Amino acid sequence: MGESVRADAEVSFPAKGRSAEDLEGALADLRKGDVDWRGGRTFSLVYNSGDDDLEEFLEGVARLFIHENALNPFAFPSLQTMEAEVVAMAADLLGAPPRAGSLSSGGTESIFLAVQTAREKAADRGIDRPQLVTADTVHPAFAKAANYLGVEHIRVPVRADLRADPEAMAASVTDRTALVVGSAPCYPYGLIDPIPELAAMAADRGILCHVDACLGGWLLPFLEQLGEPVAPWTFAVPGVTSMSADLHKYGYCFKGASLILYADRELLKRQFFLYDEWPGGLYGSPTTAGTRPAAPMAGAWSAVRYLGADGYLAKAETVRDTTRRFVEGIGSIDGLEITAPPDMSVFEFGAPGLDIGAIGDVMDDRGWNLDRQQGGLHVMVFPGHAAVVERFLHDLADAAAHHGTSRGKSAAYGGVS
Ligand SMILES: *Cc1c(COP(=O)(O)O)cnc(C)c1O
Repeated sequence: MGESVRADAEVSFPAKGRSAEDLEGALADLRKGDVDWRGGRTFSLVYNSGDDDLEEFLEGVARLFIHENALNPFAFPSLQTMEAEVVAMAADLLGAPPRAGSLSSGGTESIFLAVQTAREKAADRGIDRPQLVTADTVHPAFAKAANYLGVEHIRVPVRADLRADPEAMAASVTDRTALVVGSAPCYPYGLIDPIPELAAMAADRGILCHVDACLGGWLLPFLEQLGEPVAPWTFAVPGVTSMSADLHKYGYCFKGASLILYADRELLKRQFFLYDEWPGGLYGSPTTAGTRPAAPMAGAWSAVRYLGADGYLAKAETVRDTTRRFVEGIGSIDGLEITAPPDMSVFEFGAPGLDIGAIGDVMDDRGWNLDRQQGGLHVMVFPGHAAVVERFLHDLADAAAHHGTSRGKSAAYGGVS
């Protein structure tokens, strides 16, 4: 995992400062090896709105708020207002109460907060070794949260249709289970888990149910408004108690913005941390971070207000149509097949009988960056991809027809170096 970084042994602490101009040149050099996301060549990591005006506007917003700190909301009421408004707007979209959520730095933090809150609720019931029950397609952030927070993670195999299996998950629930999770949709296949069954199963047992809508939170509502069939997944489903939804994916904000929402404000309060056992006075913190960057909050508020429902609908239409072109095009290439028809804009394709790793290598060589999964290659479609579908399909057909053997690059997302 992780490409090797040029860790130059001769790097030492700089004795003298350098000019901004000089460093700008150095930065440009450093970036030369980075992936070409603006050209629509990446399918994760950068969520490309394909909207230059929005990008430029948000860059201006970030510049305005780059120095502020949301740690103390009373010092910057603007930030408190923007956070409350983003929470309220999302709550309106997703069927939650208006004041029962927080902005966080990303999906992982939102998920940590949901797991932590569930752990606290379980502690109220006298459970000191709580469990988390998820499908095995759930995002690794849950495994990470469980690991950090001392919660046992029970992973349950998905059904033959690759969605969470409510019966098998029910059978895995014990009297120590704090939280049951479903995804809307899951990252590997873009499939929505059967949320009504999972939430009802959790509610029957008096436990919490989280919907991970990091990917779907800002896209599924608009696909539904476009008339697409979308299985129930919001707070309208009885038993759903919390939800994560990333603004820095289909919310089209720049990075560092996600939401955690709860079914009621009492749950949100269990997330807060208050401390006065030090000489510095009462320290209150709503989320994991101490110092909270303000730019992503202002960016989130501005992206939602700039686009509005009509803007998100237009982007959802582009994403839907572009996804269809990818899915149909890939499915008609000899030897390739879509693992499961996706509910959204995210999917895997494999090549039974061919060397999918080698096909990925050829695509790499042609400048495309497809993530490798265990069963194939992964595609996540953004508006910025509308312009590259034909070129992509042409290269992919070529790669499927002419490839050697795999260089052995393994399935990896992220990396440590
Ligand atoms: C991206 C993602 C996450 C994690 O979000 P980060 O912003 O990368 O921390 C969690 N769940 C799903 C389904 C995701 O796609």
